[in-house]
Amino acid sequence: MIDFAIRGNNVLTPTGIRPAVVLVKDGRIADVLSEVPAGFDADVIDLQDSVLMPGVIDPHVHINEPGRTDWEGFDTATKAAIAGGITTLVDMPLNASPVTTTANALDRKLAATSGQLHTNCGFWGGLVPGNTGEIERLIEKGVLGFKAFLTHSGIDEFPNVTEADLHKAMPIIARHGLPLLVHCELSTDETLATGDVRSYANYLASRPNAWEDTAIALMIRLCEQYNCRTHIVHLSSASAIEPIAEAKRKGLPLTVETGQHYLFFNAETIPDGQTQFKCAPPIRENENNDRLWAALRAGIIDFVATDHSPAPPELKQRQSGNFMTAWGGIASLQLALPVLWTAARQRGCTVDDVARWLSEKPARLAGVSTRKGTIETGYDADMVVWNPEKSFTVSEDRLYHKHKMTPYLNEELYGVVEQTYLGGVPVFSQGATTKLNAGKLILRDGND
Ligand SMILES: [Zn+2]
Repeated sequence: MIDFAIRGNNVLTPTGIRPAVVLVKDGRIADVLSEVPAGFDADVIDLQDSVLMPGVIDPHVHINEPGRTDWEGFDTATKAAIAGGITTLVDMPLNASPVTTTANALDRKLAATSGQLHTNCGFWGGLVPGNTGEIERLIEKGVLGFKAFLTHSGIDEFPNVTEADLHKAMPIIARHGLPLLVHCELSTDETLATGDVRSYANYLASRPNAWEDTAIALMIRLCEQYNCRTHIVHLSSASAIEPIAEAKRKGLPLTVETGQHYLFFNAETIPDGQTQFKCAPPIRENENNDRLWAALRAGIIDFVATDHSPAPPELKQRQSGNFMTAWGGIASLQLALPVLWTAARQRGCTVDDVARWLSEKPARLAGVSTRKGTIETGYDADMVVWNPEKSFTVSEDRLYHKHKMTPYLNEELYGVVEQTYLGGVPVFSQGATTKLNAGKLILRDGND
């Protein structure tokens, strides 16, 4: 007995967009057919021309709870997620207090989700100097992989690793087949930050491409040495694309993400003092970003993730506009799909491309690609219904994020999320949440 069916003219199937009927039973996709079967007696929801796509999977989100819930918490972040069509996210191990670098801290993180998990949520463990003894304990508890920094993370309790630390950790992580996610910036010169602190150009000059390129060269070398799945988060430097392409041609287990903001904004149009644009690595020039687009379209960059990392307005130095001391992090979780689609459609990309970059490929990094990221028989019925032709203007009152400060405010974006299904349950519909607490913890069972 099927629970219900969804029929639409634009269903994103593994063979592309086509008219289809998706049958849902017990939270899963029971079948994908071309027509409603004769004698079908359950409800049929007719989407007409709206797109039915696998739910968005964002593997790069900073939720900050417990300990820094005044920055962002599970309740607000996961409400924002379902409002944005995000059916799975993976939380980063820093900004919360304690940071997720021990099994004990992961227990506290899991406890903090209680009663406020509105989308599915997995966890990255943190790799810091001295915690190699915790790696396997964190794996046993179900982390999906690890995250490390090569430069100061902004959080003193989450220090960056050195190459010596990586030599200890990568063989262990490789043995378990999990990915190591790395923030790739290695400072090559400490004297670059000079001049007007409100100037975006000065901020950009203080974190040059060379920082990323040097770090990525190191990670490619270690990826090859240990055959450890290595994932470069938020690539911004286009001059690292060729070495990455070369490493991929050699067959190294290397993957790369970039962020929506690197594809949507350009340094040339960021006004001075507008610290809502501050992130690290920084948003670079138009010419650089065109090359990121080309690499994304060519599959050298695998996918796009938000790196949603908000902070209270005081920490963003909203009053002073000081780029040098402002918290680096862009709030954008709820807007992941419309921001990327708005930029992608202008470049002639398709809804299929967006589904690959926001659902299919990130599912692989998170290790959930046998259950999520595709509309196919047997997969979880995590889906988003959206209208690519409709636009809206970003306003504070429609954002569920804890802090409304975002560089996307007042932007007109294409792609209106109409409905979000989590395990076959409509959790967000026509501008309002319809079911809370339907999210599940995603913990790796160790049997992949
Ligand atoms: Zn991040």
